[in-house]
Amino acid sequence: MSDECIFCEIGRDPSNAAVVYRDNVVFAINDINPKAPIHMLIIPIKHITGLSEMAGNDELIMMYVALAAEEMAKRQGISKQGFRLIINQGQDAGQTINHLHAHMMGGKSLGDMG
Ligand code: AMP
Ligand code: ZN
Repeated sequence: MSDECIFCEIGRDPSNAAVVYRDNVVFAINDINPKAPIHMLIIPIKHITGLSEMAGNDELIMMYVALAAEEMAKRQGISKQGFRLIINQGQDAGQTINHLHAHMMGGKSLGDMG
């Protein structure tokens, strides 16, 4: 856990109203600056800076990320029409929050990856 980390702060508060999904490994929130009609973040509870910093059994966390993304899409009613799952890793991808997270986006045709 990092004291300075906004996602750790949100994730460790069991009564935080921003948290729309939680299991033992990940939680989900709506992105504060949505880039699509549905734009949620799936975030491991454990503070891992990014994909490049995973260690030990951290890879298992990604299974929970994927399953939670699908569950969120189902709850939002977009599982069938589709959604995009994106992880920004590092500087060139524009990662701004150094706590591993996946963007689940959908609710419209998202077009090509630019
Ligand atoms: P990334 O560029 O992959 O690091 O994405 C960080 C994302 O977190 C951006 O889409 C922000 O809009 C979003 N974000 C930043 N702070 C918050 C917050 N407090 N609650 C929800 N989303 C946030
Ligand atoms: Zn963190």
